[in-house]
Amino acid sequence: MRDYANQITNRAAERDVAITDIRTCVVEGNFEWNLIEIETDAGVTGIGEAYRGGGVPEIVEYTKRFLLGENPLDVERLFRRIVQEMSGHGGTTGKVVTAASGIEIALWDAAGKLLDLPVYQLLGGKFRDEVRIYCDCHAGEAYAVEDGYTDYADAEAYSPEAYAAEARRVVDMGFSALKFDLDMAMDNEPDPFNGRLTNAAIEHKREVVEAVREEIGYDVDLAFDCHWDYTVESAKRLAHELEEFRLMWLEDLVPPENTDAQLEVTRSTRTPIATGENRFRVHELSGLLYQHGVDVATPDPTTVGGLAETVRIADRAEENYIPLSPHNVCSPVGTMACVHLGAAIPNFDVLEYHALEVDWWDDLIERDGPLIRDGYIEVPEAPGIGVELDDDVVAEHVLEGTSGFD
Ligand SMILES: [Mg+2]
Repeated sequence: MRDYANQITNRAAERDVAITDIRTCVVEGNFEWNLIEIETDAGVTGIGEAYRGGGVPEIVEYTKRFLLGENPLDVERLFRRIVQEMSGHGGTTGKVVTAASGIEIALWDAAGKLLDLPVYQLLGGKFRDEVRIYCDCHAGEAYAVEDGYTDYADAEAYSPEAYAAEARRVVDMGFSALKFDLDMAMDNEPDPFNGRLTNAAIEHKREVVEAVREEIGYDVDLAFDCHWDYTVESAKRLAHELEEFRLMWLEDLVPPENTDAQLEVTRSTRTPIATGENRFRVHELSGLLYQHGVDVATPDPTTVGGLAETVRIADRAEENYIPLSPHNVCSPVGTMACVHLGAAIPNFDVLEYHALEVDWWDDLIERDGPLIRDGYIEVPEAPGIGVELDDDVVAEHVLEGTSGFD
């Protein structure tokens, strides 16, 4: 087995640093945010975030047995060490890569603080001073995550009027790009398992999109997400039906495992098709990009393998003239990590913000004023990711039954 352990002996004394502790904390926002802290013997603590959900803190905890004592400046080597050490635990994909993503982000934060540079600088420098944000919106109480599982809302939440009203409200907040869920309870009729859409279901979705367009016009970028629900033929019929509304993209129409099926859908329509958030590492996205199976790539940096892995994916996307719009359902920590990525890659388009319903989202970090202003986040110049947690607010929202950072 290739050995990624530290064998490096030639390093300046001020950069001869060791990881002394790795800690996790699950904060209960609209999702369960997996926060990670990496402590060093240089007095610097790096913070990161891995994609939501169970199992991740346990895997992060497991990595302590081989990461303690390592040098946090060797970000890329340590990411590979996690994948290698845990390859027998499914380490090349899934939850291990998600955990490694959050650790990788915390390592970048620590490295930036140790070197006195913002993370975007470590990723290769800046293409832009601010990063455009799209707001994930919900009509009424549509498609909520409750206690870790997803549930549909009452039928009235899916009315065209409810979508249009929410779109208006969010545009008036200053966002120039929006996304709604377009999968609905009625998609399960007459059969909840076969993934086919009836003509009535497609017509209802068309009416929803039309109502939103009538409300906000065509100058606001507008996307819809379908969460991998449909068969290829239903996906094609829906995408075709929505072409006239000139969407920013239609997201995740078919299940994610089959690139040929994705290719068939993407090539069938003038509606831009987005996917990528539940693929892992560059290996699961390369084929999609080189075959033009996607019009807008949407990997999640806190899932896919961290910031450097997303840069590698962005490189392959750029080679194929494909934009990249990161999926993001994080707290301000993971979101700000994505802002550095957005600054550092040429083909960045928009970054997701998915916490409109969390009125203390900004309070989780020490900061005066909101992070998002007029639909943009300014790229920070502070060393590292550029945010520090407000420990009191973190403590207030620690997931029940868990201990937090202590
Ligand atoms: Mg999505």
